Amino acid sequence: MVDRLRAQGIVHPQVLDALNRVARHRFLDSALVGQAYADNALPIGHGQTISSPTVVARMMELLFEGRNARARATLGRVLEIGTGCGYQAAVLACAATQVVSIERVRPLYDKARDLLSDVRADRIRLVFGDGRLGHAPNAPYDSIVSAAGGEDIPDPWLQQLAIGGRLVAPTRAPDGRGQVLVVVDRDEKGWTRSLHDAVRFVPLKSGTE
Ligand code: SAH
Repeated sequence: MVDRLRAQGIVHPQVLDALNRVARHRFLDSALVGQAYADNALPIGHGQTISSPTVVARMMELLFEGRNARARATLGRVLEIGTGCGYQAAVLACAATQVVSIERVRPLYDKARDLLSDVRADRIRLVFGDGRLGHAPNAPYDSIVSAAGGEDIPDPWLQQLAIGGRLVAPTRAPDGRGQVLVVVDRDEKGWTRSLHDAVRFVPLKSGTE
């Protein structure tokens, strides 16, 4: 899998190392285990999908280019919106000091909690709730990453981003067709936004279920 990521242009050593360390098949139903190391998004129930390894790697590389991550060589304290099966949280935890991950679908949250209980549980904090509100008790975050795409970046995420921090999230493309990855950097003066790859993520929904 890591060779394929390299072939896709992923070069950051900590990103490749993190993806190499987390066994993706553990996060999938037994019927899908045979596809665990293909570069696909796969169903995890409740209409949701596990992100493809390339997408997880690409978002992490973008986070590593943020100022705090460059200065500290780690993603620092990370907020993830959309725990899903917990795969990306486990990968992020290999390169972060702490990962706070929020999920709005109760059965997915429960399952991720079981799956992650023995993997770096000391560094991962799972929260059940509406991630559009972020998670103020652990803010500010050096890195914020969303695994679900909304119309725009919710204001609490911008407020909870540390100075020097970076946020990466899929958001509706400016022409209204599809989604793009939006990067937001925060410095002493404010927030700067840039647009990156075209992507396809599940929708960012409100409330819990
Ligand atoms: N990072 C996950 C990807 C899961 S797909 C992984 O590695 O598998 C995205 C997830 O975002 C879904 O589980 C969906 O339920 C969740 N989601 C969508 N809107 C949300 C919101 N407002 N708050 C929290 N989670 C949300």
